[in-house]
Amino acid sequence: MELIHHVDAVRKRLDPLRAEGKRIALVPTMGALHDGHLALVREARRLADVVVVSIFVNPTQFGPGEDYERYPRPLDADLHRLEALPGVRFVFAPTVNEMYPGAAGAREPISLVVDQLDDALCGRHRKGHFDGVTTVVAKLFNIVRPHVAVFGLKDAQQFVILKRMAHDLFFDVDVVGVPTVREEDGLAMSSRNVYLTESEREQAVVLSRTVAQAVSRVRKGEQRVSGIVTAMLETMAGAADARVQYAEVVDAETLQPIERIQPSQNILVAVAAFLGETRLIDSAFITAPAHIRNVASEA
Ligand code: AMP
Repeated sequence: MELIHHVDAVRKRLDPLRAEGKRIALVPTMGALHDGHLALVREARRLADVVVVSIFVNPTQFGPGEDYERYPRPLDADLHRLEALPGVRFVFAPTVNEMYPGAAGAREPISLVVDQLDDALCGRHRKGHFDGVTTVVAKLFNIVRPHVAVFGLKDAQQFVILKRMAHDLFFDVDVVGVPTVREEDGLAMSSRNVYLTESEREQAVVLSRTVAQAVSRVRKGEQRVSGIVTAMLETMAGAADARVQYAEVVDAETLQPIERIQPSQNILVAVAAFLGETRLIDSAFITAPAHIRNVASEA
């Protein structure tokens, strides 16, 4: 495994491998690696010959007052974790200046802008977040030029937006999603879980429970989104210290809110909440049953 800090060096290593016909996979991360990240690496290994893991805490996807400064950066421990996993060929860990040579981490004169797909969910509450995410991932795609890029479905809105970005901007890369890896009690693994106090950690399981209950309501044929969201908020209220930011059911492709779930509709159930200072998210993609009533066709 080779640690690379510079864009030129990535190109120099990968160009000959690409020319040899090797399939290259990219796994973008912000480090503080846990088993969720490692699941992405395993999937990348399965899909490609050469796996590149990037570790970069991207300043442009953090809003004012968010945790950019204190975000964990345990690079040595991350390298050890990756070393223990067979198959990672390169780790790309650039500096902010390397990735943002024009602006040194401030907003750049040229960047991507996400519209509509960030009206709901995290995008509504983290203005500019997905502009930062798409900009940095586009840079990584152009640096690594992977055949395949692997992301977690845990960041569901991010996944939908990046898949759409690759399609709409004609990036020649397959964007692949990996299901959320969870702790034993159901809490989605996250680099931010280390911020939680013991009591917050115990209560944090409420997010996965809320999502699971909503999924089960959809599976049973419940179609009225307001009823599902009310039940989600009731479950969330069971955790005294959880402050809900959103609980939503949206269309899985457009990410627009829906009022009534249609037969076989692909939907996304998602929740975000603060436990103390720590913001956690959870979600599930689900296809509604085919046999429920099609209100549009009844009209
Ligand atoms: P991050 O380092 O938090 O930016 O995450 C890097 C990648 O790992 C993203 O594609 C995330 O969606 C993915 N990821 C983070 N947590 C999990 C998890 N618990 N299960 C699966 N993928 C995850």
